Amino acid sequence: MRRTLLAALLLASAAPAPAETIVVTADRMVDVLAGRIIEDPVIVVTDGRIAAVGTAGAQQPSIRQDWKRIDLPGKTLLPGLIDMHVHLDSPADIGGYRGLEYTDSFWAMTAVGHARSMLDAGFTTVRNVGSSYRNDVGLKQAVDNGYAAGPRIVPAGHALGATGGHCDSTFLPPSLEKPDKEEGVGDGPLELRHQVRRQRKYGAEVIKVCATGGVFSRNTEPGQQQLSEEELRAIAEEAHQWGLRVAAHAHGAAGIKAAIRAGIDTIEHASLIDAEGIRLAKERGTWLVMDIYNTEYTQAEGAKNGVLEDNLRKDREIAQLQRDNFRAAHRAGVKMAFGTDAGVMPHKTAGGQFRWMVEYGMSPMEAIQSATRNAAQALGRERDVGAIAVGRWGDLIAVDGDPLADVRVLEDVDVVIKGGELVRND
Ligand SMILES: [Zn+2]
Repeated sequence: MRRTLLAALLLASAAPAPAETIVVTADRMVDVLAGRIIEDPVIVVTDGRIAAVGTAGAQQPSIRQDWKRIDLPGKTLLPGLIDMHVHLDSPADIGGYRGLEYTDSFWAMTAVGHARSMLDAGFTTVRNVGSSYRNDVGLKQAVDNGYAAGPRIVPAGHALGATGGHCDSTFLPPSLEKPDKEEGVGDGPLELRHQVRRQRKYGAEVIKVCATGGVFSRNTEPGQQQLSEEELRAIAEEAHQWGLRVAAHAHGAAGIKAAIRAGIDTIEHASLIDAEGIRLAKERGTWLVMDIYNTEYTQAEGAKNGVLEDNLRKDREIAQLQRDNFRAAHRAGVKMAFGTDAGVMPHKTAGGQFRWMVEYGMSPMEAIQSATRNAAQALGRERDVGAIAVGRWGDLIAVDGDPLADVRVLEDVDVVIKGGELVRND
């Protein structure tokens, strides 16, 4: 019986399915690697990966008549966008204690819809930085196996943090704690190394750690450092040993600097980064992922959604400082990647951050590169995503108009192609 099955498998693998090839054309394409526009692009995608990139006319790749075509006259093509900081299992309109109205599996169910929303908004890759019950790992498996539509997901599993810190559960009394309350929580290098190994064992492809307090937890302050440099270093070393990168939530200047010195790869929020932190990030090549878009939503809708006044207060205190520090860090030449904290604001609006990045100092091309080329580098996945280039996945989006003249055209993506498959066409 077993031998028959093996023989059948061998037979199946000996006769591969014929390659499926599509050809995509448009009026213009943003070449994020060269930082320029290419007119009349012709892109060939075979079995999901980009096989050729050329232009109509003399440089046209050879095309067979029987290949499927996606012609997008009048449109501008870009690589599929990447959001480095999302929470897919977090509905933006449920805040504070309103979360207690829902059963445990509710959050994973909402993640399915949020994944579809982000894909429709042009995000073909997202890094999910922490979720309860490993909802992100399960969702990634569902998407990869065709049970749900969504971006490529880089899951973190549970976020790591100190007891009582931002990534511990801080809304409930001890007698009402969640069954998974100990997940991700560790005190001291040894416990935190264990948590790195545990998250990786159960599917994490990046490690998320909370180095400082945060806005939406109770009894923590954004400026407060919550893990020692020694603890952060243990996490970074352990993750790197296993081939994983580390994202550190860090608002306060001291926590940011400790995380950079510890060898953390990406600093999330970086709201209160000071001149020394900027210098250190530049020196060490540390990425900043600054979510400078979501405050308007939080301030306008938060109270209605159940967010507590103390959380709204913290957001108000740091929002403008974060935008000013974004400008300073960009001006100093620190490496920046695009991350919105989607879930704090509605997932489908993630493209709304581009205009703020331009308002606070980036050129439209730099803002687009932060969500494509740079994000792919920060993920360590530049062979797979982040540019329209031979060998990478055929993840493409198309918009009307010129995103270099007005980056806000990225708030309304018309066409989304993921792995050579048309998943949205308005
Ligand atoms: Zn977050």
